[in-house]
Amino acid sequence: MDWTISVKNGKLVVKPPKYCSLVCPFCWGDMLLHHIKVHNSFGGWAVDIMYKCPRCGYAAVFGVAIPEEKAKELMEFSRKLVEHDEEVVKKRLESWGYW
Ligand SMILES: [Zn+2]
Repeated sequence: MDWTISVKNGKLVVKPPKYCSLVCPFCWGDMLLHHIKVHNSFGGWAVDIMYKCPRCGYAAVFGVAIPEEKAKELMEFSRKLVEHDEEVVKKRLESWGYW
């Protein structure tokens, strides 16, 4: 698995593969992690990782197979909105000409 999905100091840490640039294909803004969803389907555990563009609203979901132990570790973060530093989001929108 090229994705790094872990819990550090009670916080969810998601790192996409190095070859994967998370840029919106419609407006070329940076995509931000929106939420993850841990599920058991098709006979195994997986996590859906959703990124969303704060500028135009485009959303992309990556489906990554994970072992059961990882699923248990990530379960508490499943279906919860990922909080972002408001300043970071505001600065990105500002750099695109908002405000
Ligand atoms: Zn966009």
